[in-house]
Parts: sequence; C-alpha cells; structure tokens
Amino acid sequence: MSSKPENEYYLDSSLRPSTWEEYIGQDHIKANLHILLSAARERAHPPEHLLFYGPPGLGKTTLAYLIAHEMGAQIKTTSGPAIEKVGDVASILTNLSPGDILFIDEAHRLNKLIEEVLYPAMESGMLNIIIGKGPGARSIQLPLPPFTLIAATTRISLLSAPLRSRFGGGTFRLEFYSEEEIGLIVERSAHILSVPIEESAIAEIARRSRFTPRIANQYLKRARDFAQVKQRPLNRGTVREALTLLEIDELGLSSVDRHILSIIIDKFHGGPVGVGTIATALSEEESTIEDINEPYLIQLGLLERTPRGRTVTPLAYEHLGYPPASPAGGLAADPHQKTLL
Ligand code: ADP
Repeated sequence: MSSKPENEYYLDSSLRPSTWEEYIGQDHIKANLHILLSAARERAHPPEHLLFYGPPGLGKTTLAYLIAHEMGAQIKTTSGPAIEKVGDVASILTNLSPGDILFIDEAHRLNKLIEEVLYPAMESGMLNIIIGKGPGARSIQLPLPPFTLIAATTRISLLSAPLRSRFGGGTFRLEFYSEEEIGLIVERSAHILSVPIEESAIAEIARRSRFTPRIANQYLKRARDFAQVKQRPLNRGTVREALTLLEIDELGLSSVDRHILSIIIDKFHGGPVGVGTIATALSEEESTIEDINEPYLIQLGLLERTPRGRTVTPLAYEHLGYPPASPAGGLAADPHQKTLL
C-alpha cells in the first residue's frame, strides 16, 4: 500500500502527534493531564472542562485530540466565530453522545448569548433555552449527556470571567518551546516526510522558528522545496537561503516583525505607543499583531509591554542596525550633526 503524502493538508495532519510520546515538551501540562485523565477513567466519567491558551501553533488543538484519543472519546470541533446563533450551540450540544469531547477553538470570539447557554451546560449539564418571545415566551430545560468542553484561545484576556471560571479541569498556558524541543519536532517531521536532513539544518530551522512547532514544520517544508528545486542537500546553508528568500532573518523575525519595530523607532521615538496606533501605521489587524507578532518580540526581549503602550528595547535598535536610543527615548543625538537654529 502506498502512503505517500500528496498534498499540504495531508502533510499537516500526518505531522500532528497521535501519542503522548510524540507530543514533545509542555511537560507540566502533560503531567497535570495525566492525573486528570487517569482519575476520570477510574471514575468512568468524562474529565472536567479544560481551557488551553497561548499563541497559535503551540499545540492546543493537538492536546484536545490526544485527550480524546486517550479517553476513547469522539471529538467534535467547532470555533467561536462559527457558532453564530443560540440555535447553533443548542444543536451542537443536543447532538453530543455521552463522553464526547467538544472542542471550541478561538473561544474568545464566542458571543455573549452563546456563552450564556454554555454556562449551565458546563456546570450542571443542562441546556436552558427560551422558546418564543414576549409574554408568551417560556424557558425549557433539557438534560445533556455528560461531556467535556475543551476550549482554546490565543487571547485569554478577552474571555469573560464567568466563562473562565467554569473550566473545572484546569486552565493551562502553553509555553514557547525550547530550541532543543523544536529540533526534536523537526527531526520527527523530516522522518515522516522522508526528507534527508543534516543536523545543522535542523538546528538552523529550530533557531528561526519562533519557538513554535507549526512554524518549524512550515519552514522544514519550504527548505525541503528549496533543496529539491536547487538540487542541493538540506544543510544549514540551504535553510539559510530558503528562509532569507522568505524574508525570515537570523532571529526568526518576519518582515512584519521588523516593520513593527522600525515604525515604533522611526515614528514614535521608540515608544511607548498603543497597539492600535501601530496597527494603523502598518495597515495590519490589531489582533494579528497581538496574537502573532508581539508574543515573539516580547519573548526575544525586543519589545516591552508597559501600561502606557509598547516600547522597543535597546536590543531592537541593535538588531535593526540603528544607533542606540538616548536615555530619554528616541535615537541618540548625532554629535557631528549641526544644530539647526
Ligand atoms: P494550536 O491549536 O495551538 O494552534 P496545533 O495543535 O494545531 O496548534 O499545532 C500545530 C502543529 O504543530 C501540529 O499539527 C503539529 O504538527 C505541531 N505540533 C504542535 N505541538 C506539538 C508538539 N508538542 N510536539 C510535536 N508537534 C507539535
């Protein structure tokens, strides 16, 4: 039987870990889940509801699938923006079978009315809905089968407090991965994709992948394409060229990341400046900057989030080749420049 992967979609799902051993890192979460799931199995009851948060591509969805696999449960997946009406969520909940896992991605985009249906469903396994309008409206209650809600979000601060408080199984923050962990993920993916790759190439991909497995896998595939088209071995030099072509620099910054930093330096004297203002100056979505760019820039120590807005650090000036910032913010005065009167 030939199982050669044929398209990117297939490749992505084939790279998703299907056992806990293949799921590299996040040891603290895995240890907690191990206890939670073992206890639930012994009680023959679905685990309590869980919330995972952290930047995209760190493995939240994969965790939900691993939990379903371990519990021998079916998983039904949806997302905050996909559930538009109360009727949508009512139909999802009433179609669950006992023990099912309901995975809701982008949970911060659930609207208030939907959240209000979820509270009693999560807390007491009841679906409360109101039928009709005005004085003739009546409320009905339907018991739901026992189920586990697993929600994932990139923006926990946007989740309402009542919703957050209902994840009895725990709220877990996924951390960025270490370079070593990303290296192991790249090595495994290269093996699955049957791509011969040198150690130095694995290290170079790991160094530039924003400490994020999904990005590491993407860069591996782009570097593989580059090696194939140029008929070159997949070594450090090939990875460097492939990523330079994608405008990914030595620190793994994209052109948008660099643009964010240089705009703050050029237009706002290094900050502080609000994220909305940065987004407008860049013609980017504010949420994209907050979800994708900021966490990595902060992790690298190039950007700081202060109560008054975002500020770039001296490291950012250095990385972009600017002269150091003066202590009061902005660029240092050039001693050779004549004062304009
Ligand atoms: P999220 O839901 O947080 O956006 P995903 O769970 O979809 O992230 O992960 C994206 C991809 O990254 C997965 O398909 C998988 O290939 C890879 N991945 C994520 N976490 C891990 C991990 N811990 N070990 C190995 N691969 C991982």
